[in-house]
Amino acid sequence: MDLGIKHKKALVFASSEGLGKAVAHALVEEGVKVILSSRSEDKLSAAVTDIGAEDYITCDLTQKGAARKLVQAAIEKLGGLDILVTNAGGPPAGTFQDISVEQWQISYQSLFMSLVESIQEAAPEMRKSHWGRILMITSVAGKEPVTNLTISNSLRAGVHGLANTLSKELARDGITVNALLPTYTETQRLIDLNRNMEDIVARIPVGRLGRPHEFGKLAAFLASDHAGFITGQAIGYDGGSLSSI
Ligand code: NAD
Repeated sequence: MDLGIKHKKALVFASSEGLGKAVAHALVEEGVKVILSSRSEDKLSAAVTDIGAEDYITCDLTQKGAARKLVQAAIEKLGGLDILVTNAGGPPAGTFQDISVEQWQISYQSLFMSLVESIQEAAPEMRKSHWGRILMITSVAGKEPVTNLTISNSLRAGVHGLANTLSKELARDGITVNALLPTYTETQRLIDLNRNMEDIVARIPVGRLGRPHEFGKLAAFLASDHAGFITGQAIGYDGGSLSSI
């Protein structure tokens, strides 16, 4: 199926590896001009070559104002922006008692304020062409809290509220806003979380972990021309594990 987004211009946050890179790859496969971003120049440069992206811009999303500058730079490089995919490094795990105020503040900047800053810059650009797609990579934890992921459980729920609220404000401008909620998917983040894989798989009804490639394809569809009627949704990529209806 032709997704109808050839030559569209996209920026994908936190995309030198993992889910962000997989989404970027799926967009490149549809003929989208994609800019990658993360902190490491070496990893970004390798990823651009690996997937055939347009270019990269380095950015540390934990820094106030960094996401805003990133979007401005991407618009300048691409000559516009049609698709914005927000993403960030996973926040530290821990109980409420384990987490310092500083960790809350850093996570709030990278998981929440980076979206506010970036959409403030991206939405006016998308309005110009009366077409836009904003996709937020979050987590199933934002819908059904996961033990020990206190920061993720808290801030992702806020992002889902933002996505739904924004979707109504931007709908008449041809801009959709959706959140994509992965469960355990085969990336570095999963290795870092150091969980027992057998236990994890046992709790996923489909009986396996998620795959970045599949996740990327779902994101590309939501970014496509065919998905213009889907907005304000928090869509699980969850192997059947979410129970809320
Ligand atoms: P990953 O560790 O494989 O990749 C993370 C990406 O973020 C990398 O490109 C890294 O360079 C970049 N990054 C990290 N810190 C950054 C910063 N301060 N500024 C800019 N870029 C930064 O992780 P992933 O599995 O792709 O996860 C992506 C997001 O999805 C995370 O927020 C994670 O919590 C969430 N998530 C992942 C899973 C999973 O099982 N993989 C499940 C649920 C939610």
